[in-house]
Amino acid sequence: MTPADRSSPPLRAVRIETKCPVCGKPADLKVRPFCSKRCADIDLGRWLKESYRVPTEETPDDEAGEGSDGRSGHGL
Ligand SMILES: [Zn+2]
Repeated sequence: MTPADRSSPPLRAVRIETKCPVCGKPADLKVRPFCSKRCADIDLGRWLKESYRVPTEETPDDEAGEGSDGRSGHGL
């Protein structure tokens, strides 16, 4: 007989450890999921860079909309 046969994993002991996505260090609660403000900035910078990036290589025809005279027929 084995009285001390408890094979239930102590869930409370499992700490959800967040790792910094930038350097992989344990995250700091203040700046999680990053380990430091610096890494947060780095990640933010990456994000902004990708946002600025236009997925399409086609150049938007912004200039075409400047010389249009579409305001003429706007009678209310
Ligand atoms: Zn980090």
